[in-house]
Amino acid sequence: MRSFGYERAGSPQGAAQAGAASGAAFIAGGTNLLDLMKLEVETPTRLVDLGRLDPGGVHPTAEGGLRIGAGVSNSALSADPTVRSQYPLLAQALLAGASPQLRNRATTAGNLLQRTRCVYFYDTASACNKRAPGTGCGAMGGVNRMNAVVGTSSACIAAHPSDMAVAMMALDATVETVTANGAGRRIPITGFYRLPGNTPHLDTVLQPGELITAVTLPPPPPGVQGYRKIRDRASYAFALVSVASIVDGSDGQIRQARFACGGIAPRPWRVEAAEAALTGARADGPALDRACDLLLQGAAGHGYNDFKIPMVRRLVTHVVAQAVRPGQEQRNG
Ligand code: SF4
Repeated sequence: MRSFGYERAGSPQGAAQAGAASGAAFIAGGTNLLDLMKLEVETPTRLVDLGRLDPGGVHPTAEGGLRIGAGVSNSALSADPTVRSQYPLLAQALLAGASPQLRNRATTAGNLLQRTRCVYFYDTASACNKRAPGTGCGAMGGVNRMNAVVGTSSACIAAHPSDMAVAMMALDATVETVTANGAGRRIPITGFYRLPGNTPHLDTVLQPGELITAVTLPPPPPGVQGYRKIRDRASYAFALVSVASIVDGSDGQIRQARFACGGIAPRPWRVEAAEAALTGARADGPALDRACDLLLQGAAGHGYNDFKIPMVRRLVTHVVAQAVRPGQEQRNG
């Protein structure tokens, strides 16, 4: 690890000002950044520690939703009674990620901003356009079992690693930020992550120094919520394919469905047209096939990850059909 400067932020705006300096990086739980620094994948010259800031808590909003402070730990969020009763898919996604020790340290904002686990990104001897723009992509033609099949570019096929962000995408979360000049932004999560294009080193639309202060959720929509994750072992593994879903319907009839997928794209993958194809449809008819076609439009495997395309089709079909199967009680969770 290289030497670096260090300071403790006393306020969100002070943090944003310090974080805007060239070479600066925020650190909160440090569960991803410290690994990246030890491997010299990231080499900040100054760390701005957010650990003394108010984590923000989990509070109801006037609109009937929830406001989650940026510094709330993944453990605290997954244990929050309102999250467990009203947003169970968020609690399930959080508990499907990492280990209890990591969830105790990891924060809401840090979880959104964690970087891909593409093995070539972490290996400084390999070509990687995300780590070192213009050097190429080791995963194309390499061992790409964990990489993405949709939303990719010729520069990068990395998959987004977060489970929580997939749930946030299905729940229509909004990311609140503060910038160095004190202005704030509210960024819908649908516009928060960038696709790689020819700038895969940029994961999000955040500007230098822009600090996440909270994430807000609208009131939960009606329907059965769930988070299903397929992975190589039962715990402490990233998703091969995951689906966060909210399905309203009964007796095989879908009224409305939302679903976001993890493990298959550079960002949590949600396609409005795929959801629209299910509105008012039968779960045992052709609509689910059509929805999966729309979800996976343009999808292409890269060898070792070809299996993800049929796998996500089967998982979406299973999750939606199960949610409206005859006798299924309409509830959250
Ligand atoms: Fe780097 Fe992206 Fe290629 Fe992985 S897929 S090696 S992160 S450019």
